[in-house]
Amino acid sequence: VAELGTPDREVVTTCAYCGVGCSFKAELNGDQLVRMTPWKHGKANRGHSCVKGRFAYGYAEHPDRILNPMIRDSIDEPWREVSWPEALAFAAQRMNGIREKYGRRSLGVITSSRCTNEETYLVQKLTRAVFLNNNTDTCARVCHSPTGYGLGQTFGTSAGTQDFDSVEKVDVALVIGANPTDGHPVFASRLKKRLREGAKLIVIDPRRIDMVKSAHIEAAHHLPLTPGTNVAVVTALGHVIVTEGLYDEAFIRERCDWDEFQAYAEFVSDKRHAPESTALLTGVNAQELRAAARLFAKGGNGAIYYGLGVTEHSQGSTTVMALANLAMMTGNIGREGVGVNPLRGQNNVQGSCDMGSFPHELPGYRHVKLPEVRKVFEDAWGVEIDPEPGLRIPNMLDAAVEGTFKGLYCQGEDILQSDPDTRHVAAGLAAMECVIVHDLFLNETANYAHVFLPGSSFLEKNGTFTNAERRINRVRKVMAPKNGYEDWEVTQLLANAMGAGWAYTHPEQIMAEIAATTPSFAGVTYDLLEQKGSVQWPCNEEHPEGTPMMHVDGFMRGKGRFIVTEYVATAERSGPRFPLLLTTGRILSQYNVGAQTRRTSNSVWHEQDLLEIHPHDAENRGLKDGDWIKLASRSGETTLKASVTDKMSPGVVYTTFHHPDTQANVVTTDYSDWATNCPEYKVTAVQVSPSNGP
Ligand code: SF4
Repeated sequence: VAELGTPDREVVTTCAYCGVGCSFKAELNGDQLVRMTPWKHGKANRGHSCVKGRFAYGYAEHPDRILNPMIRDSIDEPWREVSWPEALAFAAQRMNGIREKYGRRSLGVITSSRCTNEETYLVQKLTRAVFLNNNTDTCARVCHSPTGYGLGQTFGTSAGTQDFDSVEKVDVALVIGANPTDGHPVFASRLKKRLREGAKLIVIDPRRIDMVKSAHIEAAHHLPLTPGTNVAVVTALGHVIVTEGLYDEAFIRERCDWDEFQAYAEFVSDKRHAPESTALLTGVNAQELRAAARLFAKGGNGAIYYGLGVTEHSQGSTTVMALANLAMMTGNIGREGVGVNPLRGQNNVQGSCDMGSFPHELPGYRHVKLPEVRKVFEDAWGVEIDPEPGLRIPNMLDAAVEGTFKGLYCQGEDILQSDPDTRHVAAGLAAMECVIVHDLFLNETANYAHVFLPGSSFLEKNGTFTNAERRINRVRKVMAPKNGYEDWEVTQLLANAMGAGWAYTHPEQIMAEIAATTPSFAGVTYDLLEQKGSVQWPCNEEHPEGTPMMHVDGFMRGKGRFIVTEYVATAERSGPRFPLLLTTGRILSQYNVGAQTRRTSNSVWHEQDLLEIHPHDAENRGLKDGDWIKLASRSGETTLKASVTDKMSPGVVYTTFHHPDTQANVVTTDYSDWATNCPEYKVTAVQVSPSNGP
């Protein structure tokens, strides 16, 4: 601060990392950003923050940023720096040419959950109103798409049921497949405070995560399950609750479909779902599981918090529905201190899904096949919308390899590094005739691009993000875009170069269009956000002040729906050649593939990805802490260092995926969730052996 001078002005904006959505004051001296200070009036963080939001913003000024557009005829040629008009004309000519030659469904878009609501809305509009198809997908595909499906089926909408304040009334927190301390630190602090006040904790996770230490030892149940057996464990919890008569009959009769509950109860009562029958499969001690089930059913307000350890499985959607069953059967919905709460990874993964960036849904989770829904947007946009759902990310890549998908606009996503089965992603990209990458940095995906459009950082744009509690927060421009344009402007320029006639001059106008076309956002205006600081959707005539808690008097779909959740083993199996199971996650100071955090002072806290391995498994392989190891699977192999720790269960290893040198996703499989194609990052059979290093 001494070097940068004393701040003389401040702009309140929102952190662009995780789904907690902390508010910050960007403090400036003239045009120089001096520091980011957590804003005490921020409703999601109340003046708290973590090391990412507080310190990891230096990437915005990193010399690696590309500030001028670039083009090249083929990916074997070097890049040529050109003007914006030349780059946009080149991109538009290629994309229009592809559409003419191969048909409108040969083009598509991948957008990022890091983008604002307004940017995301425009990108899906570009796909539907200019490309004239529904080939739009988002990185939520690879994280929380099963939340969308599972909660949509059971409750009627894809959203966390509570606000963060609700944690203050929790008596029993069930944390499954999430590591809030590293992934959602500010929320984790609030949960830890509640645990210190006496709330009980159930953790279902293959790792003994830090949160386990936060509860009194007698109040914490850790069920260290075998990766891939979530459905069997949650169904066994249901077995105990139903067979021991611990369910809330009054709630179920009033709020849910009783006949469906009876069918579920009959299914779950079968002895094969008893904890004693599933213990060998799941690795979870039957007595511990019974104790956890009794605690959750009868311990007062029970809240479920879950993350990607639930969704990134071949049965990700099934597990989400199993958790919804658990909440409904125990009456833990519709009041403070309860609920089913997905901890969203990216800052705007909730908003990205809300804004219609899935290939089957228009904004507001309305199916594109419905004529009355298409009509709303056809009237607003003056085009005919393709009634056929479009391609998901993996389908776009498959179609590219098969030769029917030819042009991609990839905004804010590095699919080569973040999506599973890197070789297949590379083959798909290499087969396309026009790949447009719109990003801050020349990322790994850009190796396969023909057009590079420089992106703007969150400090350089106006808009909104929606956090994990459906809270719409303003993002305010702190400094002028270094590349000349905010990202929504670039999308508009591309659309207009392809023949659209868009004329937005500020994201506020885009929000007005969202409100006019999307009932759950009907009451959202920038004026309201200015007045209230933030607002939670649904915000409309019925809920003009927004909605902190959902499903209070009834579920969005009417009656809550119980769904039979049969466990089906993943196709990925360990065996003599690949005897260990790998699961992945992230650490506090870094974020996903590290494109931003590695370019900030936070990099000193994490120089490389490590493989966590149980002492027995390490000893069997002659490995010590810090040794180089080779990590190999049926898909590929990589090299990294070992971290020997009893946080891991025997037979399970764990790594992060923050560093491109490691490229952990070269080993992950291409199996995915049966309903949504969300990749199964959390279960890969691997072999670990000593190595001399890379
Ligand atoms: Fe940003 Fe999440 Fe940290 Fe808050 S908890 S400062 S939103 S990364």
